[in-house]
Amino acid sequence: MFYDTVIIGAGAAGMMCAIHAARQGGPRALVIDHAKAPGEKIRISGGGRCNFTNLEAAPDRFLSLNPHFCKSALSRYTQWDFIELVQRHGIPYHEKTLGQLFCDTSAQDIIRLLLDEMEKAGAALRLETSLADFTKTESGFDLMLETGGRRTPVSCRNLVVACGGKSIPKMGATGFGYQIADRFDHKVTGIRAGLVPLTFTPAETEEFKALSGLSCDGALSCSGGAYGKARFEEAVLFTHRGLSGPAVLQISSYWREGLPVTLSLRPDIDLLAELKRQKTANGKRHVATILSDYLPKRLAQSFADQAGLTERNIADIGDKALAALAAAIQAREIRPAGSEGYRTAEVTVGGVDTTGLTSKSMESKTVPGLYFIGEVVDVTGWLGGYNFQWAWSSGWAAGTAIANS
Ligand SMILES: Cc1cc2nc3c(=O)[nH]c(=O)nc-3n(C[C@H](O)[C@H](O)[C@H](O)COP(=O)(O)OP(=O)(O)OC[C@H]3O[C@@H](n4cnc5c(N)ncnc54)[C@H](O)[C@@H]3O)c2cc1C
Repeated sequence: MFYDTVIIGAGAAGMMCAIHAARQGGPRALVIDHAKAPGEKIRISGGGRCNFTNLEAAPDRFLSLNPHFCKSALSRYTQWDFIELVQRHGIPYHEKTLGQLFCDTSAQDIIRLLLDEMEKAGAALRLETSLADFTKTESGFDLMLETGGRRTPVSCRNLVVACGGKSIPKMGATGFGYQIADRFDHKVTGIRAGLVPLTFTPAETEEFKALSGLSCDGALSCSGGAYGKARFEEAVLFTHRGLSGPAVLQISSYWREGLPVTLSLRPDIDLLAELKRQKTANGKRHVATILSDYLPKRLAQSFADQAGLTERNIADIGDKALAALAAAIQAREIRPAGSEGYRTAEVTVGGVDTTGLTSKSMESKTVPGLYFIGEVVDVTGWLGGYNFQWAWSSGWAAGTAIANS
């Protein structure tokens, strides 16, 4: 059996690629997936409503050892192109926060959109199918596909690797794409769990556990990792395992073992100036009561207790102690012990090294007809719809290049 293009992985990137690679009709493109259903990550994304893109999508919201690599695909297939597609399918959506676009009804709307477009383009889909073996030939690739124990040989001119990263193994993530890269001598950068809750020392975990369930506006910053320095101002959530919430997930992609992270709560105010003002204006109020003007009550009490200022009037506290209290709340250095890992990570940071790929088409520079798209590549987006945008843009870039070749 011959297909012009075989795509491994019926996720966001693979289906997008199939739509464009098969554009000229006929069963020219085949997508295989070992899962029972296509687009499983789309289905669970955004709490079931799929945060499918971001109005602010731009190259500076993506991590990569080569920050320029993503520019070509992102500028040629933009968030506006995908929004137009969503509108054309009559899918209702809304902006939630910070440019994040979500389906009004269900993430299934996006899966249906992709399947409809694939059908229109004449792309074939084979589920519960894996790639048992593959070799490079002069004109393309010889593959051995396996469906329910039955093996089928298939030849193709183009082989597109769209099998995602390692995050959420329970949903079928295998890291198989890195093995294919390795077989063809493509380098894979250091990979790690990203957009993931961080974990802490036993003492800190106990402290955060006592505050479990509280959320507060915060900022987290980190520097010294492979992707440079970063700072995110968003909600911080205290959990029974450590810290989570958008700001924590965001900084986790930049963090490396051993690096400190600076945590600031209520970064929108100058807390020391506020405390000094309150000392003059409301000297008889307790420190914890004053702190609760700015922080959730339980958190305010915890900081007052930790500073040894329980039930003390603010007028009796020296400026040095107030400065130390403000620093504990707004400039606290913490050293995460680790992260919750691939089990809960939304993405895999790192991947197939972009130095071996052409940014315009996502094709291998050394193996003609071999393409890598989506999360398997060393391009990782921020939280907020950026990772799907990368899947759409890179899938489109490869699909269009194949259709035009
Ligand atoms: C819980 C969760 C929520 C998320 N929410 C969002 C969000 O709202 N917005 C956003 O932008 N991003 C979100 N993400 C990230 C986003 O889902 C991924 O970045 C995106 O799905 C990557 O697309 P992909 O096509 O490259 O890979 P995937 O979507 O992972 O698709 C890869 C496909 O390949 C298949 N596969 C893997 N190995 C093999 C193999 N050996 N043989 C055959 N098939 C194989 C898998 O079954 C899968 O269908 C979320 C991730 C998670 C885990």
